[in-house]
This record gives sequence, structure tokens and C-alpha cells, in this order.
Amino acid sequence: MKKSGKNNIDVSDQKRILVIGGGFAGIEVLRRLEKKFENDFTIDVSMVSKNNFLLFTPMLPEVASGMIETRHIVTPIRAFCKRARFYEATVSSIDFQKRQAVISSVTGNRNGSVNYHDHTLDYDYLVVSLGGETNFFGMDDVRKCSYTMKSLGDAIILRNHVIDMLEQASMEQDSESRQGLMTFVVVGGGFAGIETVGELNALVRDAVRDFYHDIDVKDIRMVLVDAGGKILPEVTDDLSKFATQKLKESGIDIILQNPVSSATQYDVKLKDGTVIVTHTLVWAGGVTPEKIVKELQCEHDKSGRIVVDRYLEVKGIAGVYALGDCASITDTHTGRPYPPTAQNAVEEAKVVANNLISAIRGGNKISFNYKSRGIMAQIGKRKGVGILFGIKTHGLLAWMIWRSYYLSSLPTLEKKLRVLTDWTIDMFFKPDITRLNIFTENQEIQAKALSDTENLASKHEAKSDTT
Ligand SMILES: Cc1cc2nc3c(=O)[nH]c(=O)nc-3n(C[C@H](O)[C@H](O)[C@H](O)COP(=O)(O)OP(=O)(O)OC[C@H]3O[C@@H](n4cnc5c(N)ncnc54)[C@H](O)[C@@H]3O)c2cc1C
Repeated sequence: MKKSGKNNIDVSDQKRILVIGGGFAGIEVLRRLEKKFENDFTIDVSMVSKNNFLLFTPMLPEVASGMIETRHIVTPIRAFCKRARFYEATVSSIDFQKRQAVISSVTGNRNGSVNYHDHTLDYDYLVVSLGGETNFFGMDDVRKCSYTMKSLGDAIILRNHVIDMLEQASMEQDSESRQGLMTFVVVGGGFAGIETVGELNALVRDAVRDFYHDIDVKDIRMVLVDAGGKILPEVTDDLSKFATQKLKESGIDIILQNPVSSATQYDVKLKDGTVIVTHTLVWAGGVTPEKIVKELQCEHDKSGRIVVDRYLEVKGIAGVYALGDCASITDTHTGRPYPPTAQNAVEEAKVVANNLISAIRGGNKISFNYKSRGIMAQIGKRKGVGILFGIKTHGLLAWMIWRSYYLSSLPTLEKKLRVLTDWTIDMFFKPDITRLNIFTENQEIQAKALSDTENLASKHEAKSDTT
């Protein structure tokens, strides 16, 4: 008989709960289960997530601008696991019949190759909270030429690239080329897009004013492109107009109802034929579920999200719950699906945790019937827009409410203090324009050798063309 835990519980008597995806939704479920079952060794809780941290996405654009230090918006998942097991791995398949999930972990070798290890986890109850990935609407050229704003790596890479553009523009003699280097296009008028364009705009303008004296501010062009008719579709028309006006006043061009149709490394083409010469295309045009979610043997909506009932249980599959960005939940107040926001994900998690506990211990199930208390977005330095308890706010007040709300939502006191310190320092000092080199010395030597070989080959080609 296999025993587990401090109290020598027979493993076959245990109920196994598996939570997959350590984002806003998964972590909130985990926290609630931990609290309920902390001393109950008949319950075994496991969490699987690709990264070993919870990423606080609303502050990601501020990491890209350098206002907040990279590690201050992430919290290790193990900090939430008092008893739960944590696996840093990718869920590669789920079998609802066998009640099993296969997870893959990767080990990197010194020679750069990787080894994959698969493990099979059994469960009695499954919580699917796998979020989503950036949606390029099938445009492969755009995917290849875009920077994204979804992960910590995205923010670091974008920041490095933007600073690189500033360095190159300050050396560039040709004014047309300089303008191309200083043009930044952000696609997507939702939260991620407008917060990103607001932060990039502040970074580039402050950096040029304080450090890059060879660049003329007139060369800076910051463009926000959206396929729809207004930005921030979640807010009322007048707040959306306010946000549009404030973004324009801070120097951002807004192009609406004109989707991106193609892109190369050096330009972006819009549906009406407009071509914008740029080296920077940031794609924040929406999210779509990952392939593994779309391929699950259950009902999906037309965008591939998992359809759940009002108790957030996957339709027709007992013991499996889905929530967050990967689930399709109809808002009974509007008749439309809940938008993919962190606020909704956390509220859904409260219902899933309650219903799971009721399923195990007996008790009442509750249905998800959340009415949003408000919506807030930061649209640049010291400016925000939002609706809170039905009251519209904008400008400095909205920005201060935004900051207080998100600061209070950060998971630990340590992170709250670190972010507060970052914000305070930013108010008094110039932006940090250090471009972090993320390559090892060895990789740099190899890259240099490769580029020398390529240069030599092109010189040979040029020579043979002339002879
Ligand atoms: C830049 C940006 C700004 C935003 N600003 C706001 C805002 O101001 N307000 C707001 O309410 N919302 C905002 N959002 C949206 C918000 O981040 C999402 O709605 C929220 O994160 C959804 O939570 P989730 O738990 O469903 O998914 P996520 O938080 O995305 O979590 C999913 C988790 O699953 C893991 N995962 C995915 N696939 C696998 C796999 N195969 N195996 C293992 N693990 C996997 C991921 O690594 C991740 O940890 C913003 C999003 C972005 C990108």
C-alpha cells in the first residue's frame, strides 16, 4: 500500500486535484484550495505551469519602459504552495476518459541541445486555466516580424530593441532612415495595446530629451493601429474618446478601422494600402487559446475557448473546470462572453474553488454571475481612464486609482514595496536607458564569426558580379 504525506494516508484514498496554468485564474484557485485543505492529507493538490512564477501582466508595459524592475512583477509559484506540489512543465495532452494529463519538462545541455522528459499525472478533479497566446489571425509574416507583449521575455526584448533603435538613430545621418528607426507601431486598441503604446511613447520621448541630443523629437512617430472603430471597446464611448484625445495630445497617431494586412522587417502595410516605414511593430491584437486547449475533446466556442456551464464546469465532463482567458463564459447581464481580463479570471477562480470544495466535501454549488465593479487603464504617464462603480473617471485621478488598485492586487507585501519604490524613483530621476545584453560571451563570439563569414561571402559575390 503506497503511503503519502505526513499522516501516512493511503494514496488510493486521496482525492487528486490538478490545476494547470499558474496565471491569475490558476493561482487564485490554488490559494483557496491550499487554505481549505492545508491540514487535510486526504486531498492532494498539484499545480503545473510553464514558468515557475505568476506574472502580473497589467504592469508588463511598465517593465518594457523600464519604470518597473523586471523581477518586481513576478512572484514564484512555490510561494503559494504550502502543501501543494508544483511542476514547472508544459501540459502537452489531456485525456478526459483516463483522467490523466501528460506534462513535458525540458533540460538544457551545455552544448545548446535540449532533452524532453514526459510525466503522466492522474487526477480526480482538473482545473484548466491555461490562458491564451497572441492572436495573429493567421498572418504568418506579421507573426515573424512582430514583437509581442505577453511574457516577461517579451517586455525585456522589446525594451532592448527600442533602446537599440535610439542608439542607431543617434548615429544615422540619413534623415529618412532615421525616421524609420524612430517610428514605432503598436497594433491593438485593448488594454495591452494602449498601455504599451503609452509607456513606449513616454520612454522614447523622455530618453530623446534627456540623452539622445542628436535625435530631433520631430523624428519620433508613435502609431496605434486598430481594426475596430474605437479604442478600449470595454469602456463607454465618451471615455474611449477621452482616452483617444489624451493619447493624441501626448503625440500618438491613432489609426482606426484600418487593420494591418502584411508586414516585413522594415514596414507595415494597412488594409487601405498605407505603408508605414518602421523597424518596430508591436502586436497586441488579442489572444486566442493555445492549440492544446482548442484540441480538447469538449465543446468550444467559435474562437476555440472551452464552453463551461454556469458553475464553470466543462459541459458534459464531470470534475473538470475551465476558467480565465481559455474559457467561454456568457455574461448573463450582457448576453456576451466575459472579456479576457485579470479581474474576471480572479472572480471566476473564487467560484471554481467553491464548487470544487463542494463537490468533494458536499455543499452548495454557486453559479458565476459577476458584474464588473469597474474597469481601469493607464494611458501614459500620470493619465488614466476608467469606470468605477458606475462613475467615470479620467486623468490624474483615474491614474492614481489605477495605481492603488493594482498595487493592492500584487500578491505579496515584498512586491508591493518594490513596485512602490520603483514608481517613486521614476518620479524624480531620468529614465534608465541601459540595454541589457542577454547573450553569453560565447554566443557573441559565435555571432560575430557568423556575421564575418556572411560579410566575406557577400564581398566575394559582389566581386564576382563585377568581373
Ligand atoms: C500587456 C497586458 C496588459 C494587461 N492589462 C490588463 C489590465 O490592466 N487589466 C486586466 O484586467 N487585464 C489585463 N490584461 C489581461 C490579463 O492579463 C488576462 O486576462 C489574465 O492574465 C488572464 O488570466 P488567466 O489565468 O486566464 O491566464 P494567464 O494569466 O495568461 O495564465 C495562464 C498560465 O498558464 C500557463 N500555461 C499556458 N499554457 C500552458 C501549458 N501548455 N502548460 C503549462 N502551463 C501553461 C502560462 O504560462 C500562464 O502561467 C493584460 C494582458 C496583457 C498581456
